[in-house]
Amino acid sequence: MIHISGLGVAGSYLFRRLNDDGFDVSAYDPKREGYYLPCGYATNEFLLDTYLNNIGMGIGEYVLSRAQNVIFSGHNFGEISFNARGMCTIEKKRLEEDMVRGLHRGASAKMENADVMVDATGISRALLGPHPEDYRMYAREYLSPGSAHDDFYFYFFEGGHGYFWEFPLGGKYHVGAGSDSLEIINEKLSGYAREVVTGRMIRLAPLFDNVSRGNIIGVGEAVGTVSPISGEGIVPSIKSAEFLFQALKKHSEPERIAEDYKAKLFREFGYYEKLRALVYKIQSGTKLGLSDLSSARLAKKDLEMFGIDFKMSKVIRHFL
Ligand SMILES: Cc1cc2nc3c(=O)[nH]c(=O)nc-3n(C[C@H](O)[C@H](O)[C@H](O)COP(=O)(O)OP(=O)(O)OC[C@H]3O[C@@H](n4cnc5c(N)ncnc54)[C@H](O)[C@@H]3O)c2cc1C
Repeated sequence: MIHISGLGVAGSYLFRRLNDDGFDVSAYDPKREGYYLPCGYATNEFLLDTYLNNIGMGIGEYVLSRAQNVIFSGHNFGEISFNARGMCTIEKKRLEEDMVRGLHRGASAKMENADVMVDATGISRALLGPHPEDYRMYAREYLSPGSAHDDFYFYFFEGGHGYFWEFPLGGKYHVGAGSDSLEIINEKLSGYAREVVTGRMIRLAPLFDNVSRGNIIGVGEAVGTVSPISGEGIVPSIKSAEFLFQALKKHSEPERIAEDYKAKLFREFGYYEKLRALVYKIQSGTKLGLSDLSSARLAKKDLEMFGIDFKMSKVIRHFL
């Protein structure tokens, strides 16, 4: 029997996937009805759709706004516009609810009898516990009736201290900021109207060397499947849940499951280690050199996965 703690995107996807495949699985999440999910809701519709197809769903009815252009800006550079390649915002809460609709959850107490316990509790790591190399930033977000830009907009703070975003939501906007400084966040968000205020810490370090403990195995943000440069965690967390599903199908021993799963995580997301190192270098004021070129290429690949047609040539041209 498998028990999943946490029904965010990763836990909900895994719960549905295992149920559909005939596994004996229960799940628990203490989230209150009406809770506003702290997330920008931006994702790559093409990638997300392929995963939703695995559980008999599709992205279509959940899309709120599709990006035409994605604008990057920063403390020392003006606006650079990239074409979108799938970036959109989705009704994330309804999507999560629909993923698990009609499934029998079971109580938290069922955990005691589980052969495998899945930690899908995101930032909490409620079952796996703290990790010494964890790295988190503050993140705060408003649901706002207006914003300064009509399209998807990112403003990068000086010295790798995070970024500010404006994402259209089919009539309204998510305006938010993630940073290691609450002062920077408050300053950037001041002046924006807000109908809802939400926020939490966001994990920006891959913790793949510690994805399991005994019969507990972590998925999603609990193990750091969040891009260290963009904060994208929806598709990566679902991907990690699919990797765990595949491992659960193949093996029954928790150690074998964890081994197989961990190898897949490293293969797909191992480059997050390099992106985290790049961000750390920028944050500590170390000059970037030729040796960082491969990390810059990985950053490009990462932004493309998020649904942005990121062109290095545009950035270089901008600074010449
Ligand atoms: C402000 C903000 C903006 C973001 N914007 C974007 C974005 O635009 N695009 C993007 O791709 N990513 C974004 N992210 C990241 C993304 O939201 C997460 O990485 C992703 O949702 C992680 O999914 P998850 O299922 O692993 O965790 P979560 O979605 O965080 O789900 C964890 C679940 O565990 C539950 N839980 C907690 N403790 C327990 C417990 N003890 N027992 C049982 N359940 C528990 C919680 O209630 C929650 O439902 C953003 C994050 C933040 C904070």
